[in-house]
Amino acid sequence: MKPVFLYDTTLRDGTQGEGFQLSMLDKLRIAERLDRFGIDYIEGGWPGSNPKDIEFFREASKLDLKHAKLAAFGSTRRADLAVEEDPQVRLLLEASTPVVTIFGKSWELHVTEVLRTTVEENQAMIRDTVRYLKENDREVVYDAEHFFDGYKDSPEHALATLEAAAEGGADVLVLCDTNGGTLPEEVLEICTKVKERIPGTPFGIHTHNDCELGVANAVAAVRAGGIQVQGTVNGYGERTGNCNLTSVIPILQLKMGLEVIPALEGLQALSYFVDDVSNNPHFARAPFVGRTAFAHKGGMHVNAVQKLARSYEHIEPQRVGNSQQILVSELSGQSNILIKAEELGLKLEKGSDEAKSVLTRVKEMENAGYSFEAAGGSLELLIRRELGSYEKPFDLKEFHTSYRLYRDGHQPVCEATVKLYVGDVGEYTVAEGHGVVNALDKALRKALLPFYPEIEEVSLTDYKVRIIDGHDNTAAKTRVLVVSSDGEHSWGTVGVSENIIEASWIAIVDSIDLFLQRRGVLATKSADTPSAARA
Ligand SMILES: [Zn+2]
Repeated sequence: MKPVFLYDTTLRDGTQGEGFQLSMLDKLRIAERLDRFGIDYIEGGWPGSNPKDIEFFREASKLDLKHAKLAAFGSTRRADLAVEEDPQVRLLLEASTPVVTIFGKSWELHVTEVLRTTVEENQAMIRDTVRYLKENDREVVYDAEHFFDGYKDSPEHALATLEAAAEGGADVLVLCDTNGGTLPEEVLEICTKVKERIPGTPFGIHTHNDCELGVANAVAAVRAGGIQVQGTVNGYGERTGNCNLTSVIPILQLKMGLEVIPALEGLQALSYFVDDVSNNPHFARAPFVGRTAFAHKGGMHVNAVQKLARSYEHIEPQRVGNSQQILVSELSGQSNILIKAEELGLKLEKGSDEAKSVLTRVKEMENAGYSFEAAGGSLELLIRRELGSYEKPFDLKEFHTSYRLYRDGHQPVCEATVKLYVGDVGEYTVAEGHGVVNALDKALRKALLPFYPEIEEVSLTDYKVRIIDGHDNTAAKTRVLVVSSDGEHSWGTVGVSENIIEASWIAIVDSIDLFLQRRGVLATKSADTPSAARA
């Protein structure tokens, strides 16, 4: 059994944060990624709060999760209503997740002033709801909202609410520092009291970062015997955010010796992935995973780390998937690429010329502003090209776009033309769309369809634009991330340029190109394919 279980709430509490929005597709991609990384619990959302979350759970049930358990989040039953008649509780069961997390009130002030009910009824609400969910075969996580504030106000009241949850059969009691104002020594002391009072049910911790102590408070709870840590990737969340999993995980594992994740080297990639999918800039100074977390600039430091890395580094950066900056080793970062190639079933030997050339190319592109974390499709293409298993399905000659605005209130129209060759047959097409990207996508498909009817199956499911600021003396550029699907698989591709149209174009072309490579449909078809319009 694991010493501490990791409970991710990026998809629920994380999305309460300003500037952190996720579509349903984004949420599904993140859930899959968290599962692969080894997170134990994934809280997907609150089905009682919006229809999007209900739909998420419907789609998420089709995900092939290898390790993580999905949790639906909600509240205890309403006051003066039988639990089986509470529609919000019913939705929790309808989400069909193995785990249900409910929150209840620990702070007397909230019971009498906010809920406007009695202390006894509040305890019954907690007990009944937990019991009802247990009767329905759910693993139940009880989140004690405002636990620390409630405890400081009245220890007896707060503990009695936990006892109610334990009596109902809760699997774990999670103590929440909802307002984020508690100090680590208070957490340690209060958690110890909880453990003494309720020894039969384990406890966990849910903290917020309002005093920049989210991680420290979670660590304090683990020191006191806590077995579950809740948090979000990169600390996204309301106000100043939640306990940052990308910090607390390596602390638990590398500093406290608690084995919580099988392959910690994937940590930095996970951090970048969530930034990219949510379209947020990477926080360079983030501990462990930040771009500059192991960067050395001062001359003396550089000299020292070159002699002995440990002299100015608290851990080996590779252990969290990061790397020391200044020393650009030929082999650094190669293992990530090898893992990726292996996943794709492509043969790439460590230290081989192919591996080195793939790595060099990846580094060049990253320096130019590319990021492959959410664009595995573009990385796959790059590897295929370097391995020589790539055949060009089409040759692009030119494209052109225009945007027409009408003075009479008519909807604006975007038009795109594409000129390309498949083998020696030319194709010149024009299409209209709702925007530049849509028009380009349509024109490209129209040109390719006579040769590759399979591309009918591919659709663009997401499109994200990010301006990346110029560091290292480069000008600001645009990075476009496209997600495509053939109804069965989805893949991300990326384009970077100073021009948004070109960046979009690169990402779209990669998306179709990769699909054709995977299908093994190649350019030799052109000879026997009739087409009406030849250029
Ligand atoms: Zn919270």
